[in-house]
Amino acid sequence: MEKANLVIIGSGPAGYTAAIYAARANLSPIVFEGFQSGLPGGLLMTTTEVENFPGFPEGISGPTLMDNLKNQALRYKTKILKEDVLNVDLSSHPFNIKGSKTHLQTNALIIATGSDPKKLEVPGSREFWQKGVSSCATCDGALPIFRNKSLIVIGGGDSAVEEAIFLTRFASKIFIVHRKDVLKASKIMALRAMNNPKIEIIWNSEVKEILGDKLVNGVILKNNVTQAEIKLPASGVFFAIGHTPNTAFLKGQVVLNENGYILTRKGSTHTNKEGVFAAGDVQDFVYRQAITAAASGCMAALDTLKWLEESGYLK
Ligand code: NDP
Repeated sequence: MEKANLVIIGSGPAGYTAAIYAARANLSPIVFEGFQSGLPGGLLMTTTEVENFPGFPEGISGPTLMDNLKNQALRYKTKILKEDVLNVDLSSHPFNIKGSKTHLQTNALIIATGSDPKKLEVPGSREFWQKGVSSCATCDGALPIFRNKSLIVIGGGDSAVEEAIFLTRFASKIFIVHRKDVLKASKIMALRAMNNPKIEIIWNSEVKEILGDKLVNGVILKNNVTQAEIKLPASGVFFAIGHTPNTAFLKGQVVLNENGYILTRKGSTHTNKEGVFAAGDVQDFVYRQAITAAASGCMAALDTLKWLEESGYLK
C-alpha cells in the first residue's frame, strides 16, 4: 500500500494552496480532489467573476482561478487523485485514507473539504441560480445586475444580517425575509440591520417562489401567520440560511463545534488530533473567503512541515 508524507483532502483554494506549499517543501503531497459533486475545485467553480482575489485587477473567473491553482500545485509534483474520500481511520498511525479507488496511508493529513451553503429549494431557485440568485453577497453583490436595485436576503442569522449590510453599498433597498418574528443574529448585528435605513425586515415570511424572465425580477412571499401571499419585486435573492461543513466522513474522529465545523487550535491549523490539520471553510465560519481559505491552506502546509520534522518523519 502506498504511504504518503501528506494527504490533502479537498481541492478548493485551501487544498491547492496547501499542496503548492507542501510540494515546494518536497513533501510530495497527494490531493484527493473529490469527484462526487462532479465539480472538483470547490465553491469558486460555481462563481462567475471573482473580483476580490488580490493580484487580478481586472477580476478572474472562478474556474480559471481554480485551474491556475491546480496547475501551480501540479508544477511542483503534487499527485492529484480524481476521487472522493469515503472514510478515514485516524485511530492509529500512519492514518488510513480510503478513497473510492485508492487506499493509502499517510503520516499527516490536511482536511480542506469546505462547506456548502444551504440553498432554498423553491420553484425558480435552480432556474435563476447565478441569474440573480446567489448564496454569497461578498462574491456577487457588486455585480452590475444588483446595482441600485431592490434585493432580498433570506435568513435571520448573522450571515443574513452581514450580507444585507454588505449589499447596502450597492443596492437601493434590501429586504431581509425571515421566517420568524425575531432575528437569530447576535443583538449587535440585529440592531445594525434594524437601524439601517436601506434595510427592511419582513417578518414571519417565507419565499414560495422566485420569479423572473432572463433574470430574477421578484418573489412570491407567504406570511406564515396570516397565510397571506404577496408579490415582491426584486432583482436579486441571496440565500443566507446557513452552511453545512463537509465533515460527515470524519465520523467524530476530530473534535467539531456544535455546528459541525472542525475546531482548530487558536492561531494555527492543528486539530485536536496530532498530525491532522484543517484549513479553509471546513474550520472557518466567519470569514469564508477564497483568500482566507488560501491563507489557511498555506498555514496548514507550514504547520504540517514543522510537525513532520519535529516528529522525526522527514529523516
Ligand atoms: P445560522 O444557522 O446562524 O442562521 C441561519 C438562518 O437561516 C436562521 O435564521 C434560520 O432560521 C434561517 N433558515 C434556515 N433554514 C431556512 C429555510 N429553509 N428557510 C428560511 N430560513 C431558514 O447560519 P449563519 O450562516 O447565519 O451563521 C452560522 C454561524 O456563523 C453562526 O454561529 C454565526 O454566529 C456565525 N457567523 C458569524 C459571523 C461573524 O461573527 N461576523 C458572520 C456570519 C456568521 P431560524 O432562525 O428560524 O432558525
